[in-house]
Amino acid sequence: MDDIKPVAGRDYPRTWSEFQDWFASDEACAAYLEQLRWPNGFCCPACGVVDTPGRATRGRLICRACRHQSSVTAGTIFDKTRTPLRVWFAAAWYLTSQKQGVSALGLQRVLGLNSYQTAWALLHRFRRAMVRPDRDLLHGTVEVDETFLTLKRRATGRRAAAKGKTRGGTSHLLAIAVAVEVHPPKGFGRVRLRRIEGPTIDAIVPFVREHVAPDATVRTDGSPIYYPLQAAGLAHDPRVILGSKAPAHKLLPGVHRLASLLKRWLLGTHHGAVHPHHVDSYLDEFTFRFNRRSSRSRGMLFYRLIQQAAVARPVTYVNIRDNQPGQRPPRGLPGLVELNG
Ligand SMILES: [Zn+2]
Repeated sequence: MDDIKPVAGRDYPRTWSEFQDWFASDEACAAYLEQLRWPNGFCCPACGVVDTPGRATRGRLICRACRHQSSVTAGTIFDKTRTPLRVWFAAAWYLTSQKQGVSALGLQRVLGLNSYQTAWALLHRFRRAMVRPDRDLLHGTVEVDETFLTLKRRATGRRAAAKGKTRGGTSHLLAIAVAVEVHPPKGFGRVRLRRIEGPTIDAIVPFVREHVAPDATVRTDGSPIYYPLQAAGLAHDPRVILGSKAPAHKLLPGVHRLASLLKRWLLGTHHGAVHPHHVDSYLDEFTFRFNRRSSRSRGMLFYRLIQQAAVARPVTYVNIRDNQPGQRPPRGLPGLVELNG
């Protein structure tokens, strides 16, 4: 998808005022979405024929070959929502034009939405579209490590606060696997993040195999959980300096920088209010932003987000609220937690 270079002002708006001109109506948004979803022309979801569709009322598209009726939003994250496309698009623009992203409350305020729930669901649907399933593997030298988010049960009510229950309550560690391309001397390439059950061989080795190219060099600390990487056919470069007191951030500067940026972002933009069921979504958004941090234009991020949303599979509100399909929630975690600063 990244092979066609989109052009500012032609493929995506350059400014908010241009955005408003382009997307003044739901019809204009639908036409844009259609272009991104089917760049080579409408492809019937029922029979696969590529042909100009017939058009009926309310944006319905009719396949000329099999008469199947569909729409540009059917089968995407925009499917079956009552939120107008104009609001979706404005949310995508706001989400991508803010360097650090936006909280649901912030989005609700700026778009003047009646419900917090709507803003929250919009953001989570977009996060689902932020990481493409067909993304490339990491190449070159790749640092791999685990980091931990310390989640703490959020105290409710004054009594808990008075009793000092905010402190010393149960803390839970959430393990996150981190892989980042390092470009010497001080640069970083792309990143991959994933919640794992714990820092174990069973969690780390599949993570590395799934995200790191077979010809890459994997740089880790000296932990034995990385020993099997060599047996798995990867070039493994464990950073163990005998007798050295070099701190970990000197040995693996990339992953430590990443972990601290991630925590700062969760505490800053999202005020540390991270539900453990949704940690994966936040990791996806962080990855999207980090990997596109050098994009010259924020409009380009908007373009990529809408483009990926146009092909991402639909999710329901209940899907998002309860869990991620296909992903287990972390075991033994309380419902309401916050990230420890
Ligand atoms: Zn058809």
